Amino acid sequence: MTVPLFDPSTPLEPLRGEIDAAIARVLDSKHFILGPEVEAFESELAAYVGARHALGVANGTEALTIALRALGVGPGDDVVVPSFTFYASAEAIPPTGARPVFCDVDPETFTVTADTVKAAMTRDTKAVIAVHLFGNVAPVAEIEALGVPVIEDAAQSLGSRGAGGRPGALGTVATLSFYPSKNLGAFGDGGALLTGDAELADRITMLRFHGSRDKVTYEQVGYNSRLDELQAAILRVQLPHLDAWADHRRQAARWYAEAGLGDWAGLPQATDGADPAWHLYVIRTEQSETLERALPEAGVGARSYYRVPVHLQPAMASLGAGAALPGTERAAREHLAIPISAAITREQVQEVVDAIARCASGST
Ligand SMILES: *Cc1c(COP(=O)(O)O)cnc(C)c1O
Repeated sequence: MTVPLFDPSTPLEPLRGEIDAAIARVLDSKHFILGPEVEAFESELAAYVGARHALGVANGTEALTIALRALGVGPGDDVVVPSFTFYASAEAIPPTGARPVFCDVDPETFTVTADTVKAAMTRDTKAVIAVHLFGNVAPVAEIEALGVPVIEDAAQSLGSRGAGGRPGALGTVATLSFYPSKNLGAFGDGGALLTGDAELADRITMLRFHGSRDKVTYEQVGYNSRLDELQAAILRVQLPHLDAWADHRRQAARWYAEAGLGDWAGLPQATDGADPAWHLYVIRTEQSETLERALPEAGVGARSYYRVPVHLQPAMASLGAGAALPGTERAAREHLAIPISAAITREQVQEVVDAIARCASGST
């Protein structure tokens, strides 16, 4: 592959010495769970996002379930969630006892809108999961104006900026994933919750440790969901570089536009006021399937992530049956991720555009 779809390792090479030192520091401390590294990472992350509280957990999927539980979501409640997203956004709902209700997305920005959420709301809607997909920023304030709390699924949008602040600080509570390929990646699994609400932060802290505040009394059935000291120490080395990496992704998006990619496909559209960090650079084209086959043969990474949207997945079939989601269907058919990373070069971007032009004009 001459231009890989993503490249999480090259940007880490200059940090190797610092990362080794951070790992050694944790080994020497002999403190591996919920210790000083996690605490320091939580306050550094909260300051970066502009949220009052950050709490480390085991992964981004459990972060969503814990956010729902902290909001009091349970059996008999409905939670609105887009169908065009990573499966985990919806999978996190049934373990609370609540029911996912699928809403549509805008097929040009790939995010939910206040209208698509409103159309899916029922009398039992207790919360909305707004996914900042591919790094774009969903209109959280407009959705909360409908009178329902928003959980931001910000797993793909760390480093992005919205009109009202950074994703993670726009709604009632937000969740992050540090899966290795995300914009800020651990060397394994990790996740976090962010909130400005001290009471919610307190409930999250209790839920992530078995539903206990004091390790003696267990108030609720909770979770064993914690971020390791090792992962926190590794993430702390990377966090100060996140903005530079995000800026490189923005620069790559400009290179794509300048290289004429817009002649061959719909370019990613930022939502109003958003400055996305483009976790994935996802174009729109009726030739998505053809390009997905042809580009890898030309040495260029390409992948459709959500060809079968969540409401049509076997595990969700009974819940998704009959949902009319035309924007979702169009996005599922047209989307195609092409290479982007904090290390991609202008020459590689040109190579990708040349390959797309050759494939799309049928002159391979
Ligand atoms: C990665 C991701 C998750 C899940 O995060 P994990 O850490 O893998 O559990 C949830 N939602 C979205 C949108 C994601 O991209």
